Amino acid sequence: MTIMPDLACTLANMLCAGSVEQTLSFALASLITLTQPQWVCFLLWDVDLQRYIVGETWLSDATEQSPAALRRLVLRQANTAYLSDPHTARRLDTTAWYHPLNVHAAPVGAVCLGVEQIPREAQPAYDLLIRSLSQTLYTNARLEQADRERAELESDRQRLEQLLRAVEVQQRTIDQLLAAERQLSASLEAKVEERTAALRAAQNRLIQSEKLAVIGQLASSLAHELNNPLQAIESGLGLVMTELDGAAPEVQQDLTIIAQELERIQTIFRQMLDFYRPVSHDHLPLDVNALCDGVRILMRKRLQEAGIALQLQLADSLPTPCGDSNQIKKVLLNLILNAAEAARGDAAHIELATTAQGETVHITLTDNGSGIAPEHLPRLFEPLFTTKTRGLGLGLAISREIIERHGGKISVASALGTGTTFTITLPVTGVCDHE
Ligand code: ADP
Repeated sequence: MTIMPDLACTLANMLCAGSVEQTLSFALASLITLTQPQWVCFLLWDVDLQRYIVGETWLSDATEQSPAALRRLVLRQANTAYLSDPHTARRLDTTAWYHPLNVHAAPVGAVCLGVEQIPREAQPAYDLLIRSLSQTLYTNARLEQADRERAELESDRQRLEQLLRAVEVQQRTIDQLLAAERQLSASLEAKVEERTAALRAAQNRLIQSEKLAVIGQLASSLAHELNNPLQAIESGLGLVMTELDGAAPEVQQDLTIIAQELERIQTIFRQMLDFYRPVSHDHLPLDVNALCDGVRILMRKRLQEAGIALQLQLADSLPTPCGDSNQIKKVLLNLILNAAEAARGDAAHIELATTAQGETVHITLTDNGSGIAPEHLPRLFEPLFTTKTRGLGLGLAISREIIERHGGKISVASALGTGTTFTITLPVTGVCDHE
């Protein structure tokens, strides 16, 4: 079979057409040439609706019918014809030729022509055109479907990406919440531990206060009972010592020992009675530097005899806390006595210093003595804790009681073999009483 050059051109154009509309307009031109119809109506197959829909319509000038009316009529006739026989091209009435376009027995559209029948001489070219048109529409439909599927896949991909981003954001939020929760529970745990430690410390202090109260009561009643006989012994001893002034040295030595032990008993009673004193104390302005100097003068002779140097490092000016100077003096004396007992060797040395830090006054007492064993440090301020054979273990407990009654704190830092530092902190708050 030879193909007319025009038809060959049309077929090539249809193959290269970029859209269904272009394909149909190329086919239309050839159909008009081949069949000389009154009108041409292309129908396309809608897969979703499972029926024809109108594609392109052409009417010759001689046709009086309106294009819209023709399209409606053709559409109805073609859909009815498809239902009765979807494969055979045939005449529907005297003026309409119906040619279903199928590929692999599946409909892709239909061509309806305003002719009684296809001219015999045009039949081969017409068949070729119809086959090519069917194939091209089929390929176009497949391509469009592939495009649709690709677009759907793309939109699915975008939706998934969005979902993924939302999940990531949520994950980050969850991570942040978890981190915050971890932080919160850690800080809660720390707070619980802090409160437990504070509670334990308060409990310990309560126990110690109770201990002190019992000791105080005991000391008070003992002091009442023993004070008179002790005074009698002391004055009797004085008389005996005067009378035996010229006695043998051994006798005098024994009497001196008795006097010293008697003094020790009185000191112990004095210390024990300190616990039973009422808690109130003076609330007068304290000149801390003057207090330290007073203590130095009091201790000078004793320290000199023991070969211990006491050095003062006083701040140029100090704020004035309120308190009871006698009680603070008692604390300083007790600390110096302990330091003197711990002092060793030729270079034994104690330093008493004052500094001001904001609204607090710091008093530090440092010695280069034996130091304190780490296991003793937590028990140092407990009443009756002592490492000395003749110690009472009340000095530091009394000291802490006094400093805390002043609203202050006393702490210790020590290293075995190097020395010890006690630090007293006194707050400068409120208005002091006046003498
Ligand atoms: P005491 O002096 O009667 O033992 P304290 O309460 O004053 O009672 O002291 C308790 C203990 O603290 C002492 O037995 C001693 O072990 C230790 N201590 C106090 N001060 C010092 C110091 N400066 N150097 C070494 N140890 C000290």
